[in-house]
Amino acid sequence: MSIKVENLTHTYMPGTPFQATAIKDVSFEIQQGEFVGIIGHTGSGKSTLIQHLNGLLKPDSGTVTVDGLTTTGEKSELKQIRRKVGLVFQYPEYQLFEETVEKDVGYGPGNMGFSEEEKARCVREAIEAVGLDYEAIKDQSPFDLSGGQKRRVAIAGILAMNPDIIVFDEPTAGLDPSGRELLFEKISYIQREMNKTVILISHSMDDVARLAHRLLVMEEGQLIFDGTPAEVFANREISRRLDKPQLTSIAEKLNATGKFCIPDGIFEVEAMAKAIADCLKGENNDQ
Ligand code: ADP
Ligand code: MG
Repeated sequence: MSIKVENLTHTYMPGTPFQATAIKDVSFEIQQGEFVGIIGHTGSGKSTLIQHLNGLLKPDSGTVTVDGLTTTGEKSELKQIRRKVGLVFQYPEYQLFEETVEKDVGYGPGNMGFSEEEKARCVREAIEAVGLDYEAIKDQSPFDLSGGQKRRVAIAGILAMNPDIIVFDEPTAGLDPSGRELLFEKISYIQREMNKTVILISHSMDDVARLAHRLLVMEEGQLIFDGTPAEVFANREISRRLDKPQLTSIAEKLNATGKFCIPDGIFEVEAMAKAIADCLKGENNDQ
């Protein structure tokens, strides 16, 4: 199951004074099980790009292929692609509508013709995967839940359709720090333990660097870099155009004192603490 984007270009409102080319000649390939972050400033084309991955938007030129199926192919191909690629939009909780959590999460699988038994299993698994207690929550109204819980129920609704690839567009926007941390933990779990491909758009460089194994960097509709978080933030030309992870800034400032020699590519707090402690002990200090 791979996603292949080749020379993708997308222009909004062509032929009008509002014409805007949001994606310009973008190519990349993602393999099953990868955890890929997409970063770049507001307006760089991230949301436009991911809406092509399940055929919600169609390329003006270029192709998007999912597991050998193209989004511009026959209707039946598009239907299959929509099953393989689940999109979690920004503020997905706005789309909750059923009277109970169980019905809401089961809506997608029901629509897709899952048997009752299969649907029940997928709904339970999805609710548990996002860290909610199935028995305790299934009969509650989604509208009575906290903001963070609503968001996780909405994500469970996508997960319950059992897509191989899940795309999250700013999934933690508007959540408090503990809600954010919990949701990122669940997203990691989904990628690692459920073997899903995860594509994550996030503004938080700290989170995306810590979680994703590979980053696609967008700027003005173009893909300007594709590499590991360590490669992105060690690349001066690229990283000066982005906000840096706070840990990277700390390491740079400590290294600039001449008393530290913290290696590049540390994005976890514990690992950074250890690197600093090692420097103080003189182990990393070969300058
Ligand atoms: P990002 O998600 O990185 O903030 P977007 O994909 O939303 O970027 O936007 C990329 C560009 O496309 C921006 O210039 C934006 O104004 C424009 N754009 C986005 N959505 C639309 C739309 N529905 N109609 C017209 N222009 C749009
Ligand atoms: Mg966006």
